Amino acid sequence: FEEVVNFDPEVAKAMDQELERQRDHIELIASENLVSKAVMAAMGSTLTNKYAEGYPGKRYYGGCEYVDVVEELARNRAMELFGCTYANVQPHSGAQANMAVYFALVKPGDTVMGMNLAHGGHLTHGSPVNMSGSYYKIVPYGVDEAGYIDYEEVERIAKECRPKMIIAGASAYARKIDFKRFREIADETGAFLMVDMAHIAGLVASGHHESPIPYAHVTTTTTHKTLRGPRGGMILSDAEFAEEYKLNKCVFPGIQGGPLMHVIAAKAVCFKEALDPGFKEYGKNVVANAAALAEGLTNHGFNLVSGGTDNHLLLVDLQNKGVTGKNTEKLLDAANITCNKNAVPNDPASPFVTSGIRLGTPAVTTRGMNTQDMAVIADAIAMLVEDVDANKVKAMELVKALTDKYPLYV
Ligand code: PLP
Repeated sequence: FEEVVNFDPEVAKAMDQELERQRDHIELIASENLVSKAVMAAMGSTLTNKYAEGYPGKRYYGGCEYVDVVEELARNRAMELFGCTYANVQPHSGAQANMAVYFALVKPGDTVMGMNLAHGGHLTHGSPVNMSGSYYKIVPYGVDEAGYIDYEEVERIAKECRPKMIIAGASAYARKIDFKRFREIADETGAFLMVDMAHIAGLVASGHHESPIPYAHVTTTTTHKTLRGPRGGMILSDAEFAEEYKLNKCVFPGIQGGPLMHVIAAKAVCFKEALDPGFKEYGKNVVANAAALAEGLTNHGFNLVSGGTDNHLLLVDLQNKGVTGKNTEKLLDAANITCNKNAVPNDPASPFVTSGIRLGTPAVTTRGMNTQDMAVIADAIAMLVEDVDANKVKAMELVKALTDKYPLYV
């Protein structure tokens, strides 16, 4: 950082301000986390200098002997962590991991089923503004009145549209996903099952969500959410399946060029951390904290989509509070609580306004906060939503007490 300060004070200033923001805010964005210094150091290393197109032992560049070691460590640890026989750690992001799987398993024009974006799915599961929604015939499924995935309806739709691939996984779904049921539906209708476990990968690793590995033909993930690694993606599968459908080739040279070896090193470090018994405790605390935050908010009269949570996130439906998601995001930010506005199922408001917010506990749990602290955060949120002008100072005091109690990157 000293070198950045000396050479580029403008960038250094923004970096410093971002560090301070992370220190004095309560981070409730469900897809974010706070990486260890070891993960960060691996990312900020000389491995960024290395071109390594290809795979370990089969590169298109010389001088790859050490980055080969790093990539093999990352792959082997990923396979050990998730109990599978194939891992590709090269996707630059979750979206790229997904794109590589589309490239491998379906052809443009094929029918693909994915969870409706407005019900909690991800852009890459078939949104019209995404490559997935432009190149494939997307048939969405969603949640029922109670806010749960309607498996009967998924089955009915699949029997009707006969998809080539079904995608299970979500960005804003607070309940457990029944991967076995999804596989049964895929088998009944002759479809591939792709599971995108980006949000819950850390909980799968810690044993707090059922693993998709025994059920999915291919599993994709990001490495930076509950898994608490560097920003990036990964593909997991069975070695024979990966060979048959040429998954490696679909990543490189299919959709990417040179892998980011510094990020792959950080993925390896992250997987080592996740293999440590301490990570099980982390997953348990993430889930306990989400349940405590849900309870605190419910006690303050907030409605949660599906009535609660089984995982790391909750989706708050603000319609009974007479505020929008957009306004709530802003007014929480005024008291140093960061979250994102989010559509709720059948939302009458536009996607830019929304009637909900999505809250998650991966980052606050990494910081060390516990279930009592979640009750305090719920109090602060309720005070701000009730009357921001009257309660902002008091809410900020609550936030500051917590951020001071759990210092970050000291
Ligand atoms: N899949 C899911 C379920 C996600 O929630 C996200 C990101 O939010 C992605 C994929 C995409 O990940 P990335 O932002 O790394 O491309």
